[in-house]
Amino acid sequence: MKVMLVAGTRPDFIKIAPLMCALHQPPAMESILVHTGQQRDWRMNGLFFQQLAIPDPAESLDSDGSSVAARLTTIMLRFEPLLNKYRPDCVIVVGNVHHAIGCVLIAAEMGIRVIHVDAGLRSPSRNTPEEIDRILADHLSDLLFCTEQGAVDNLLRECIPKSKIVLAGNVTIDALWRYWNKARASRILPALELPDSGYAVLTMHHRPNIQDAAGFSGIIAAMEVIGLDMPVVFPMHPRARELLTVDQMCKLHSAIRFIDPLGYLDFLKLMASAKVVFTDSGGVQEETTVLNVPCITLRDSTDRPCTAEMGSNYIVGTDPDTIIDVYRHSQNGGRKTAT
Ligand code: UDP
Repeated sequence: MKVMLVAGTRPDFIKIAPLMCALHQPPAMESILVHTGQQRDWRMNGLFFQQLAIPDPAESLDSDGSSVAARLTTIMLRFEPLLNKYRPDCVIVVGNVHHAIGCVLIAAEMGIRVIHVDAGLRSPSRNTPEEIDRILADHLSDLLFCTEQGAVDNLLRECIPKSKIVLAGNVTIDALWRYWNKARASRILPALELPDSGYAVLTMHHRPNIQDAAGFSGIIAAMEVIGLDMPVVFPMHPRARELLTVDQMCKLHSAIRFIDPLGYLDFLKLMASAKVVFTDSGGVQEETTVLNVPCITLRDSTDRPCTAEMGSNYIVGTDPDTIIDVYRHSQNGGRKTAT
């Protein structure tokens, strides 16, 4: 059995690490890793291959392009010859498949089985490219692995046959436990000189939170207040840095502590020891749930409803008063944090 895996972003690398380990267990399958080239910054890419001991990609699509059409076309033109060269039995895509959607289309057209890991997650609105891509990927896939019952229900509502759907668990969480002992040994807390009294973590890079002026101002106003209680550490995604204006950067600077994006092990340690995490990331909502760290999600809804049902994730949006109220509630004996 020959399996081709496609990955291109930080969360993809985290998801494929435990998958590749499983594929290499006896009876081992041949695995071919294709990098879409979406994230190239060492801190978002090479560092993850190194820390998670992921083998080097066999091929890279180096997807680039100034327009959606250029990017999709490049990916499809470069992926088709790889399918002819390797002739895999199936292609596995993970997560939100934004760049990998071109690979899904070509594989499906060529009659190669497509497997989507993390299938069925849905947001209430279809107005983002990521949402469109994951819906397309799910409908073109032959086998759909879901992380929670809500995702299974979404797929069934969209008339995807039950026989294609597997409630399989969560590879992001498999990775967390696989690397947890290494993460615990991280020296990131002393390196950042964080106080014993505690600190908060912020991760934010989704366009609406940065490009919507009202949403962004709401988050900053809340961080200014929370920053009086404890430092707020912000490992900044390169995309956030690209999207932020100088004026926004200055406002952020006065409220929070910027750092470069962290490697996986340091970030797990930072997150697990935080008093609270503010985020717009799906993966971080899942990780804080299992680490039992209060998570305040800076979005109006979550595509991972089980994180809210389990009680550690508060879906709050960007209104500053609500963020502050929920933050105070989360710190008043609501939930204990992981150590
Ligand atoms: N993460 C990391 N370093 C950081 C911030 C996040 O390793 O500085 C990890 C985090 O543990 C999570 C993943 O990156 O598993 C989330 O990635 P991202 O926010 O880029 O993607 P999203 O979840 O928004 O799709």
